[in-house]
Amino acid sequence: MSVTPRVNASPLSPSDLFQQRSVQSVWHPCTPMKSHETFPLVPIVRGKGIWLIDAEDNGYLDAIGSWWVNLFGHANPQINAAIRDQMDRVEHVMLAGLTHEPVIELSERLKAITPGDLGHCFYASDGASATEIALKMSFHYWQLAGKSGKTQFVSLQNDYHGETLGSLSVTDVAIFRQTYAPLLRPCTHVMTPDWRYAEPGESAEAYALRAADMLDAHLAQHHVETAALIIEPLIQGATGMGMYHPIYLKRAREICDHYQVHLIADEIAVGFGRTGSMFACEQAGITPDFLCLAKGLSGGYLPISAVLTTENIYQQFYDDTSAHAFLHSHTHTGNALACRAALTVLDIFEQDNVLETNRAKAQYLNNAATVLSSHSKVTNFRNCGMIWAFDVDTDDAHFSEKLFQAGLKHRLLIRPLGNTVYFMPPYIITEDEIDLLVNGTLRSLDAVCN
Ligand SMILES: *Cc1c(COP(=O)(O)O)cnc(C)c1O
Repeated sequence: MSVTPRVNASPLSPSDLFQQRSVQSVWHPCTPMKSHETFPLVPIVRGKGIWLIDAEDNGYLDAIGSWWVNLFGHANPQINAAIRDQMDRVEHVMLAGLTHEPVIELSERLKAITPGDLGHCFYASDGASATEIALKMSFHYWQLAGKSGKTQFVSLQNDYHGETLGSLSVTDVAIFRQTYAPLLRPCTHVMTPDWRYAEPGESAEAYALRAADMLDAHLAQHHVETAALIIEPLIQGATGMGMYHPIYLKRAREICDHYQVHLIADEIAVGFGRTGSMFACEQAGITPDFLCLAKGLSGGYLPISAVLTTENIYQQFYDDTSAHAFLHSHTHTGNALACRAALTVLDIFEQDNVLETNRAKAQYLNNAATVLSSHSKVTNFRNCGMIWAFDVDTDDAHFSEKLFQAGLKHRLLIRPLGNTVYFMPPYIITEDEIDLLVNGTLRSLDAVCN
């Protein structure tokens, strides 16, 4: 019997091996899986500060905070230590019938730092669940208050509130919604205040006021059946970082009060300092009836979300019958490890004077980024707090993937939304890293546009 000499297959690199195993077993989000034949996955083996490091020891600057969650860097020693300490005490207990120190302390501290009399905290594990909780609570409140006709919700054109069926119903981003439209409840999406839609010569403020008039007109007709307006305050993130004037929030609060409609502020992306203030609603001096928080809440460490509501709404449910109980339960509600991560995030905000430090960093980035804002292909360069975005003048349907790939070559993690490029860096970014970010983005842009 002749033995054919075995040809040694060329050994796969560590990255190739990750790629091969991942596509065989992991179904990745927000991706047509076949595209990974052309665009291999980036295998991350560790993180340190703003850097994500791959299997071949290349670092990538995480310019988008790992989908808008990371505030104080990867493998942050202080957050790590708090989670370790909590693990040795108790990792998780159910919150029905039991309670624990981290969830109490987190609720007390959120109550103290959020606007107005928001202060009753209901927990879940992710953002979509938080928006659904707010919708259900609003509806249930009106049922208990004898206004059983209030069963409808209103949101803004281009708003994003998550992708589970309930949260997708109030979302208006075509790519997420189109395919599933037959499964969704009807929802009115009123005119967006995003100033990119303003008429030439119309100020952001004037445009926001015009959008508010449309909301007023809608509720004048439909307030009897409307339970709540749900909005992304100041920045419509997923649609492409659409920014708007705070006057809209102020007017929306007045209009909702006038028509007895709840105002739900979805600060899942913008809460915890992203817009420059701790919460975006503060910039309009308003208190929503419900405030949804997630993403940065745990510094991006662990899945946790919270819905805060007011004394008035809480009191409507305060009774000892189950008809009055808010019936909604997530298994990991109030997870102790996630609460400890969140408490440490709040500690860091205080001890490092983060909001003030961020103002100086934002100024530095704005100065450095004039090479981008004055670029011939760039329009609508915009900034709010620690979020930057600009639109790129291109017909290339694959611009987003191409810029993502070009960014990787320049050691950057940037992931445009269509033709909108944005930065949402962890707050620990240094001036040197800002320079790397801006120059790398410029070179990536030139590589893709030429
Ligand atoms: C990310 C996001 C959500 C959904 O949060 P998930 O944790 O992804 O479910 C909802 N609303 C806004 C504004 C978001 O940015």
